[in-house]
Amino acid sequence: MKPEEQIRAIARVVMYPYNICSCGLHWMQSDGVSCGNSISNFTGDLNAMNSAEKVLLGDLKASDEVDPSQPSGKYFMALGDVTERDDHPMFNATAAQRAEAFLKTLNLWVPEKSSPSGDFPVA
Ligand SMILES: [Zn+2]
Repeated sequence: MKPEEQIRAIARVVMYPYNICSCGLHWMQSDGVSCGNSISNFTGDLNAMNSAEKVLLGDLKASDEVDPSQPSGKYFMALGDVTERDDHPMFNATAAQRAEAFLKTLNLWVPEKSSPSGDFPVA
């Protein structure tokens, strides 16, 4: 997913729909039609992702066991996959990695279609 696609998808999870403009990247203006200020840059801003993560992490404390059946547990596992770390992925993950793990946790991640030049040659 391109960053703009990720930002749109995360905004739809964490914002009220009526606050999002039709292009999906801005706050709705008070006229109900126009694009206002940009919404949070989830893929580039750790503070924005910290806020978004609250949807998944709830009241999880650092000392709690990670339960893979819970959203928080799924998020930690996804973050471990994205960062390729199994120890404390939260300490090292960038905003972009958190955004990817966030969307994968919610099954909202759409892989990029591979371009023809990226395919393996047919033997
Ligand atoms: Zn807009």
